[in-house]
Amino acid sequence: MGFDDGEPVFADKGHDHAQCKARAISGAEAICLSLDLRLTDLRRQVLEIIWSSHKPIGAYDILESLSAQRGRVAPPTVYRALDFLVSHGIVHRIETLNAFVGCREPGPDHDGQFLICSDCGVAAELNDPQMMAAVVRSIRHAGFQPVRQTIEVSGLCPECLEQSRGE
Ligand SMILES: [Zn+2]
Ligand SMILES: [Zn+2]
Ligand SMILES: [Zn+2]
Repeated sequence: MGFDDGEPVFADKGHDHAQCKARAISGAEAICLSLDLRLTDLRRQVLEIIWSSHKPIGAYDILESLSAQRGRVAPPTVYRALDFLVSHGIVHRIETLNAFVGCREPGPDHDGQFLICSDCGVAAELNDPQMMAAVVRSIRHAGFQPVRQTIEVSGLCPECLEQSRGE
């Protein structure tokens, strides 16, 4: 369960986030290179803004940060960059929050399972093909044809859980 990089599902507060960000961006570069796509300056900037934390960020906040960096940016420009990043599995869209979060192991064809903390707002991605297979099996059993199958679970992350217990 989880990714094979040995990292915990939820990074602890003191972790070196610059490293998360650098790893994600080099992963995105590798994907673009292998697919002969361009990670333009704009796409990279959007990706960096999304990776400023593990909290999903909405398109409007991305637009604001980007405009602070480059001067006024038109919303469709941001939406196009987001479409690009989402369609290549570099960024995930969290439907329940209408927000975007970076993928820690970017790549095509993976369905995310997201654990979203309702207290601090952090989202962590699981990569559990067995869970997905079980879900799809029961869905098909109902005679339903799934198209997009992202699982989003809200709750408390380990740190917020610990804090709520300590109170
Ligand atoms: Zn991090
Ligand atoms: Zn992912
Ligand atoms: Zn939390």
